[in-house]
Amino acid sequence: MLLLFKPSPRWWVFITVIVGLCGQGFNAYSWGFAAHRYINESAVYALPSPLREFFEYHRLVLKERAVSADQRRAWDPLEAPCHFMDMDRWGDSERLALPLHWDSAVQCYSEKLLRSRGILPWHAPRVYRRLVWAFEQGNHQLILRTAADLGHYLADAHVPLHLCSNYNGQNSGQHGLHALLESRIPEYFGDTMAQTLRRAEIVKHPAHQLWQIMNDAYAHLERVFDCECQCRSQVPSHEQYAPFRRGNRLLRQESIPFVLCYHRCLGGLMGRQLASSVAHVADWWMSAWVEAGQPMLRARWGPDLSKTESFEEEDAEDRWKGGGGEDHDP
Ligand SMILES: [Zn+2]
Repeated sequence: MLLLFKPSPRWWVFITVIVGLCGQGFNAYSWGFAAHRYINESAVYALPSPLREFFEYHRLVLKERAVSADQRRAWDPLEAPCHFMDMDRWGDSERLALPLHWDSAVQCYSEKLLRSRGILPWHAPRVYRRLVWAFEQGNHQLILRTAADLGHYLADAHVPLHLCSNYNGQNSGQHGLHALLESRIPEYFGDTMAQTLRRAEIVKHPAHQLWQIMNDAYAHLERVFDCECQCRSQVPSHEQYAPFRRGNRLLRQESIPFVLCYHRCLGGLMGRQLASSVAHVADWWMSAWVEAGQPMLRARWGPDLSKTESFEEEDAEDRWKGGGGEDHDP
């Protein structure tokens, strides 16, 4: 377990909660949805009071809405490019020179080109601005919906495979890498992946920090691909896959020995990315609240949003209009 600070007895309670939540989530769901739900729910406990009380009261909403952004992909063609960026499709110097602001980026490159390579670094800061606005308005539903979405996009930015065009190993003969990394590892090792977390901190420049997060995750890509190759040569070919049943169909997936080999080779990478996601989500939520002037949020006197799904999808979505983009789903 990575200790980022010396915990007081009260923090040990928090750590225990994190470990407990982790076990629940990963055992119950596949990686994608489970991880997003886990990250949003866990981030609540890193918040300061009184923000934490409000978010804790509505934590089931934040948890369930953590996957709404992925669900919107099914019907909203504008949604998919918000979840990734193919950093490898930009030259190194070109990437470093990409404008921080969307309007400037559109002036330099066509919107179609930007969308085709993913707009995550511009979209997440925009959702952050919307969260600041929601706090200023005191709109509880919009706060929760936007905070849940923000948690989702930030979490995506921590996943190396969301940052390259070979997102499923399809270009390198490693087809299925996405599920191996994000489903199979946590399915078997989720309970041991929890990390100690820190209290939320103010983010001065969200867009800058997002690029830092993405660059850090991108730096792990080589390892993600290399480890898979290493394990293909280390684990005998007849032991690499195991059958499993889905409905009436008999399918195959990577075997436990193979997943274990990959997990060990990665050296706890996914656990660290998970912990980093939780910490950054809490940072951005708190920073938006502080930037909005730390408004009073009357959790217990408002409608109990955790007991209803009354969010309308009509949406204050003033999201980017003007054509869809590619999807990154394997
Ligand atoms: Zn996503």
